[in-house]
Amino acid sequence: MQRETLLALANKYGTPLYVYDADRMAENYHNFVNAFAVKKLKVYYACKANTNLSILKLFRALGAGLDCVSIGEVQLGLMAGFPASDIMFTPNNIAEQEYDEAIALGVKLNIDNLNALEYVGQKHPGTPVCIRINPHMMAGGNRKISVGHIDSKFGISIHQVPHIKRVVTNLNIPVEGIHVHTGSDILDSSVFIRASELIFSVVEEFPDVDYIDFGSGFKIAYKEGDLFTDIPAFGREFSKVFNDFCERMGKDYTLKFEPGKVLVSDAGHFLTKVNLVKQTTACIFAGVNSGFNHLIRPMFYDAHHAIDNISNPKGDRKIYNVVGYICESDTFGSDRLLNEVRKDDILAFRNAGAYCYAMASNYNSRMRPAEVMVLKGQDHLIRTEETLDDLTRNLVEPQVKSWV
Ligand SMILES: *Cc1c(COP(=O)(O)O)cnc(C)c1O
Repeated sequence: MQRETLLALANKYGTPLYVYDADRMAENYHNFVNAFAVKKLKVYYACKANTNLSILKLFRALGAGLDCVSIGEVQLGLMAGFPASDIMFTPNNIAEQEYDEAIALGVKLNIDNLNALEYVGQKHPGTPVCIRINPHMMAGGNRKISVGHIDSKFGISIHQVPHIKRVVTNLNIPVEGIHVHTGSDILDSSVFIRASELIFSVVEEFPDVDYIDFGSGFKIAYKEGDLFTDIPAFGREFSKVFNDFCERMGKDYTLKFEPGKVLVSDAGHFLTKVNLVKQTTACIFAGVNSGFNHLIRPMFYDAHHAIDNISNPKGDRKIYNVVGYICESDTFGSDRLLNEVRKDDILAFRNAGAYCYAMASNYNSRMRPAEVMVLKGQDHLIRTEETLDDLTRNLVEPQVKSWV
C-alpha cells in the first residue's frame, strides 16, 4: 500500500491504527486457490489470524470456508454469513460441551483426541467427523508454533490408527475427513509432501473419507532474504502427488487447506506515532504510542516485523531501537536502520495482518486501536478504538459494608 495512502489514513483516523488492504487479501486468496490443479479444492480461511467480521465477510464473498478453533470463532463465522457446512471446527483440548454446541450449530467437526471421538460417537451417533492426525514430524519456525512433532499436544498419533479404527467401527462413526496441520512457519514444502504420504496411508484405512485437509503452516517472508513458501510451485508439486493418490484410489477426494497467515499477513500495516526520540549512552530509542498490548509477536515469538518511517522517506538513515510505552521491556525492533526519526513521525509495522490485532490485549489499561479496511481504493472503518466503557463494562462491584 502506498506510503501516502497510509499517511492519509493515519491523519484521518489517528494512531495507533491497523490498516488492511482487502484487495491484497483477495489477491492472496486467488493466488492460493489458483496454485492447485485438482478436481475438488476447498480453502478455509483460518480466522484466528484475524477475526474482524469484515475480513470474514470478505473471505466469504471470495468463496472460502472458515476454519475455527473455538465456538466464539464459529459464532463470528455464522454472523459473517458462512453457512455452517462451510465452517470447520478444529479445536484442541476443549470441554465436551463445546462439541455439543458445535454439533447443534451444524459445523464440521475436526476431532483431535480419542476421548472426544468416543464422546461424539456415543453422545451424537451418526455425526460425521474429520480426524486430526499427528504425523510426528518436526516442522515449523518456533517451538511455540510447532505442532506436529512427537510431544505435541495436537492431534491423534498416527501410531494410534488401529485404536481409532476400533472406536470408529464399534461406534459406527462416519469418518468423512482426515486432517493434518504440522505447524506454522514450515520452511520447506517437502514437509507437506512427506506428511501427505503418511496421511494417504491413513486415508486408505477409512473408506468413508471424502476430503483430506492438509492444514496450513505456509511460510511468508517477514524480511528481505527470509525463506517463504513459493505457493505456485508448491501447488504444482502437491497437485501431482494428490492427483496420483486419487487415481490410485479411484476416488476424487476434496483437497482442503486452511491458511491464515499467508492470506492476510502482508495485507496489514500497523501505524504508530513517535512520542519520543531518546538518545542514551548505548543507542537511540524511538518510542511509539503503542506496545506489546497491540502487537506482541516481536516480544512473544521473537518475530521480525519490518518497520518504516513513512513520514520521512528521504531522511538520513540511522540505527534505532523501536520501543513501546508498556512498563516493562517492550522492544519492537533492535538496531533498525530507519530514515531519521523525529517526534510525531509515523512508523509503519509491516506484515501486521495476521496474529497482531487478534492477539492484542488491554495490558496497562490501554485501549485496543481502531481497524480500517481499504477495499477497491475506498477506506472503511471496521472497528473503532476501544473506550473506557469497554474496559469497565464487565466489572461487578461487590456490595460490601466496608473495604477495610
Ligand atoms: C493456526 C492454524 C492454522 C493457520 O495457520 P497459519 O500459519 O496462520 O496459516 C490452520 N489450521 C489450524 C488447525 C490452525 O490451528
